[in-house]
Amino acid sequence: MTARVIPIARQAPAGAVPRIPRDAAPADGTLADTRGRRLHDLRISVTDRCNFRCTYCMPKSVFDKDYTFLPHGELLSFEEITRVARIFARHGVEKLRLTGGEPLLRKNVEDLVAMLAGLSTRGGAPMDLTLTTNGSLLPRKARALKAAGLKRVTVSLDSLDDAVFRAMNDVDFPVARVLEGIDAAAAAGLAPVKINMVVKKGVNDGDVVAMARRFKGSGHIVRFIEFMDVGSSNGWRMDDVVPSAEIVRRIDAALPLVEAEPNYSGEVAERWRYADGSGEIGVISSVTQAFCATCTRARLSTEGKLFTCLFAQSGHDLRALLRAGHDDDEIAAAVGLVWSERADRYSEIRTAATARSRKIEMSYIGG
Ligand code: SAM
Ligand code: SF4
Ligand code: SF4
Repeated sequence: MTARVIPIARQAPAGAVPRIPRDAAPADGTLADTRGRRLHDLRISVTDRCNFRCTYCMPKSVFDKDYTFLPHGELLSFEEITRVARIFARHGVEKLRLTGGEPLLRKNVEDLVAMLAGLSTRGGAPMDLTLTTNGSLLPRKARALKAAGLKRVTVSLDSLDDAVFRAMNDVDFPVARVLEGIDAAAAAGLAPVKINMVVKKGVNDGDVVAMARRFKGSGHIVRFIEFMDVGSSNGWRMDDVVPSAEIVRRIDAALPLVEAEPNYSGEVAERWRYADGSGEIGVISSVTQAFCATCTRARLSTEGKLFTCLFAQSGHDLRALLRAGHDDDEIAAAVGLVWSERADRYSEIRTAATARSRKIEMSYIGG
């Protein structure tokens, strides 16, 4: 008999309640961490559930029928999420990304989009508001999301080969339905659509050039992501990683590329344009070329913990502050203190041993 695996969300340390400093400086957008990194992006996980079981993210061996997801009462409400996002905007956040789990599974998520779309940055500009999805529900939801104020979407798609894709999502979901979702997003004006492909050696790396070719000239931007050692359940090994340099080399050999400038400092993807002017691709090299030095992202988990790194082992319990009746100034001061003490640089110090260490699952912390 195999030992029962305790659900990861339950294993997550309770998360310290952040301290509210008494003489905190006002949240004025000049906040920087111990390495001088500003706070620019907030990724918000709206559910830890998913209708896929991607082998690199929520393997069935762990996320099976006995797995206990967070009960509804533990999730942040839409009002609480919006309040936290408003507080982060005071610290200079200009970009919000909804994620999960599968964010489109959260009931009435378009209502949350509408609430977040009403927020402004410190400078008074509208928030850049995006969402990452597996695309399965986009044919039904794309128009409502656009109407609610969503700007763009990123759709995950790991292969155009139906058999490979079904095996990777591990719920036999057909690739044609995700392609319909991408079309629905583009038709609704959620453009440019970005398409994330996690590349795993020997599984889908043979599909890299086909993926580039399929979307070249479409206006969509494919981003090839190195397989990462997020969480503790996906059996990550360095041998399974295809370095981004190799991906660029393979695409360039078939479809010539030229390097492009980043859109902004801290952009995760390294950009390459097709030499014939028919669009661009991106590569996200978090394993072979760590970009911690410019990492300006915070993550808010489904039940309101603040994580300052994707590979963190514990978070800061903002929900406890929200539900204890603290006002926005106090919570902003607590967030400011957490960020000012941040020293994360996991990808710069990754080793085989750190890869095996216990980390929070990506489906819970938000991808
Ligand atoms: N369910 C949505 C989706 O799949 O787009 C949003 C959440 S998912 C955790 C966010 C992104 O993380 C996806 O693009 C997914 O491919 C990526 N991801 C998940 N596990 C990964 C891993 N081990 N290495 C690299 N990327 C991963
Ligand atoms: Fe679900 Fe996204 Fe993780 Fe796949 S990558 S299991 S779609 S959360
Ligand atoms: Fe940012 Fe952590 Fe990733 Fe480094 S490892 S880029 S600090 S999330």
